[in-house]
Amino acid sequence: MSMKQRTYLVFMGPPGSGKGTQARILQDSLGIPQVSTGDIFRSNIKDKTELGMMAKGYMDEGELVPDDVTIQMVKRRLAEGDCDRGVIFDGFPRNLVQVVALDGMLAPHGGVSLAPILDVRDDEVMRRITGRRVCRLCGEVYHIRHNPPQVEGVCDRDGGELYLRDDDHPNTVVNRLFVYYKQTSPLVGYYFAKGLLANVNGSQSPDEVTEDMLNVLAEHGIVIRVSPLVYPAR
Ligand code: ADP
Ligand code: ADP
Repeated sequence: MSMKQRTYLVFMGPPGSGKGTQARILQDSLGIPQVSTGDIFRSNIKDKTELGMMAKGYMDEGELVPDDVTIQMVKRRLAEGDCDRGVIFDGFPRNLVQVVALDGMLAPHGGVSLAPILDVRDDEVMRRITGRRVCRLCGEVYHIRHNPPQVEGVCDRDGGELYLRDDDHPNTVVNRLFVYYKQTSPLVGYYFAKGLLANVNGSQSPDEVTEDMLNVLAEHGIVIRVSPLVYPAR
């Protein structure tokens, strides 16, 4: 078993700041998968699993799903083979109980490598969330103005229907921002104190944010994956 250190990134920032968008782009360049607890809950809701049915009530209110189920779910996800070089966490941890649980899970592998935070103003966050559309089939994220699909309402990747998430209606969004400031934002201080926080200006275009993100990672010695060798056919 190789003792090579793994890369664990924790993407911070309020709902709508662009964590999922950046995680989906960067998982390919970094060669480590995005682990989005929100995506896992939504796919469980789609499949009508017990976990999904339980989580939906909390999500529709903009409240956090209970810690014990969320933490168990993340533990199971981390045990899968594609996570053996590290992961990009998107939407986890979201409170102090989860951050401590995560530290425990990652302790044998060197802990969190870096926690980049996407800075975006609240009014821009509101615009991003209310204009967000998500594919029912694959979860791909669009924005009606900033990142529209080729054909309105249809996913470019698989033709799935694009919908407004139940929790992206304005009333719920306000509560999600309250929950973020009250429960999640203290983690900014937690990671700062550990020297792991890295600020990224999230209010630029997606490409510019990705570039800043890659620069920040490079500054912290987090190496971008070298493309695998391609052998010519014989
Ligand atoms: P956003 O990307 O807008 O921040 P997410 O997809 O991350 O939204 O989360 C949607 C909802 O799923 C949250 O409001 C919450 O109800 C639930 N959820 C996601 N991650 C967690 C978590 N780590 N702990 C508890 N609940 C979570
Ligand atoms: P989060 O995962 O933090 O909740 P998302 O990645 O889902 O955020 O982005 C929220 C919305 O904003 C989506 O509709 C997405 O297409 C859009 N978006 C993401 N990044 C940017 C950006 N840099 N500029 C403009 N819109 C963006």
